[in-house]
Amino acid sequence: MVQIASRMSEKGFISGFAGNLSARLDDGSILVTPAGTCKGDLTPEQLIVLDLQGKKISALPGLNPTSELLMHLEIYQRRADIGAVIHAHPVACVALSLVGIGLDKPLIPEVIVMLGIVPTVPYATPSTGECREVISPVIDEHNAIILAHHGSLTVGRDLLEAYYRLEILEHTARTVALAHQLGEPRFLTKKDLKKLS
Ligand SMILES: [Zn+2]
Repeated sequence: MVQIASRMSEKGFISGFAGNLSARLDDGSILVTPAGTCKGDLTPEQLIVLDLQGKKISALPGLNPTSELLMHLEIYQRRADIGAVIHAHPVACVALSLVGIGLDKPLIPEVIVMLGIVPTVPYATPSTGECREVISPVIDEHNAIILAHHGSLTVGRDLLEAYYRLEILEHTARTVALAHQLGEPRFLTKKDLKKLS
């Protein structure tokens, strides 16, 4: 988790104290990053262990779990197949959401295969629990989501899978943003999509 958080920081997917990561441990408890810390400089000792209801099992004095904990717990409670959750603020993903461009159109075949259609959920005030409410309707069916005016949410069986989905998501957002600067993107046809499935 520390290595992946550092990689996210290096890649510019997060800045300052932003972003949060969690993972389901073998005993069913949840490992999560602390609030108010730079994720690029985390140490393993700073990570917090909680139960599935969010009750602290172990944490260094003075450290509390991420302010987006409710969003993470919602996913673990709903989906038994998910072992890791990553929330980031990738620049192109957020920029597209600011101008109302979604990633829910059939544009790039390999992205459709790897991520499916990516929904953008309505704006929710960060760190208030509202994010949990807006992701609830779509998280059962999607492994990558854009939080409008805010960031990304990717999930996976483990942290690496959730991280790779974040990389693919931001790479796609950058490609789509560039395409919109060059002209009007052309969508894949139904026939093209059928051949992918
Ligand atoms: Zn955030």
